Amino acid sequence: MSAARHAVLAGALCLAAVPAAADPAAEFEASAALREAVTEEGLLGHLRSFQRIAEENGGNRAAGRPGHELSADHVAALLEQAGYTVRFERFEFPFFEETVPPVLAAPGFAVERDQIRTLANSASGDVTAPVVPPSGSPLACEASDFQGFTRGAVALVQRGTCTFQTKVGHAAAAGAKGVVIYNEGTEGRTGPFRGQLGDPAPVPVVGVPADLGARLREVRPEVRLAVEARTGTRSSRNVLADGPEGTTGNTVLVGAHLDSVPEGPGINDNGSGSAVVLETALRMAELGGGERPANRVRFAFWGAEEVGLVGSRHHLQSLPEEERGRLAAVLNFDMVGSPNSARLVYDGPAAIGRVFRDYFDSAGLEAGSTPMRGGSDHAPFARAGIPTGGLYTGAGEIKSEESAARFGGTAGQPYDPCYHQACDDLTNIDAAMLHQMADAAAHAVLTLARDPEAGKDREPS
Ligand SMILES: [Zn+2]
Repeated sequence: MSAARHAVLAGALCLAAVPAAADPAAEFEASAALREAVTEEGLLGHLRSFQRIAEENGGNRAAGRPGHELSADHVAALLEQAGYTVRFERFEFPFFEETVPPVLAAPGFAVERDQIRTLANSASGDVTAPVVPPSGSPLACEASDFQGFTRGAVALVQRGTCTFQTKVGHAAAAGAKGVVIYNEGTEGRTGPFRGQLGDPAPVPVVGVPADLGARLREVRPEVRLAVEARTGTRSSRNVLADGPEGTTGNTVLVGAHLDSVPEGPGINDNGSGSAVVLETALRMAELGGGERPANRVRFAFWGAEEVGLVGSRHHLQSLPEEERGRLAAVLNFDMVGSPNSARLVYDGPAAIGRVFRDYFDSAGLEAGSTPMRGGSDHAPFARAGIPTGGLYTGAGEIKSEESAARFGGTAGQPYDPCYHQACDDLTNIDAAMLHQMADAAAHAVLTLARDPEAGKDREPS
């Protein structure tokens, strides 16, 4: 949003500081021009670009692969053209990539191939041994659960209660040559599943559906378990676009992850959040006038979120202490166009939640809240004590009757039935919801940019 480039468009958007007392009606009015400029067509245009980039590059936009690199170039070029100061922030991340699908086979024992999923950071290996459950709890969260375990066997354990890492650690320590983890068998946790081990495992580890786990437990056949994968380090990058320096010296950081999982183009996860942040940035620059905002706005397109929030963590770690102290607020938009959506605001500091809630009140839209926890790029900042907030419309969780009554859609179905799958494409978007979320995001970005007290927790008015 360079003043030089946009001086001719001056006046449409008032970025001057607002007084400290929050006035929702005045804030709503102040963001009207920006919300008007943010359109469904604009948002869908960005999603089409992401889809096309994925299609031309192996069907995904995953970190360290061409689809993500080109997505980063694409948004950077648009932001630069709009007048932002754009830079890339490179970092390394550990990668795990299967070279062939995993094998879990036993003579006379039918196992469908797509039921078996290798856990990320599994060891490579090819073992043939009997399947043996622990003598203690099937959850295998304690070393003592493996008392009397047959060394050299493949351990069969249940998902849940403790981390995959803990289960695999105990099994390997007891002499297991491989580990099969079966799904918990509770609602929403019965089918095949993917998982990630925190550290590289010493033995091959796969996940299977609950019913297959039960059959293996009963029959205890000799199985062949084989995993073949490449591991190592790759590099990826964040795209950072800075607006003009504000009067307070503080920054409002507005981010979305731009990488997808390797399984698909990642249009809802997280083309949706990327489109919202990009559209907000471009339209703000267009309307931005010559006035200095209270706070600088930095737009961030995080890389390698899907492999463990690597880009956002890297950004936080490499921020000088002084700049870190000047982060007034961090906003995150990850999955904001889910096809069976709910309108959710992150639980968090009252001051930021208030901006979103006041907006939805003013717009006459029902909004709920979500705890979000550690699942996305706001988390490293929240842990560092920086005020964070954001929006979310749901992932693979099953929509409850209550949620369907509040937000419409279908109870008993996931918010996003294509979460982390190849079908997370252009058809996997609720465009009207995406537009509502974009308006809310644009409103919050502008309100926080104009507020010299942003991030300081005030009493809601
Ligand atoms: Zn995501």
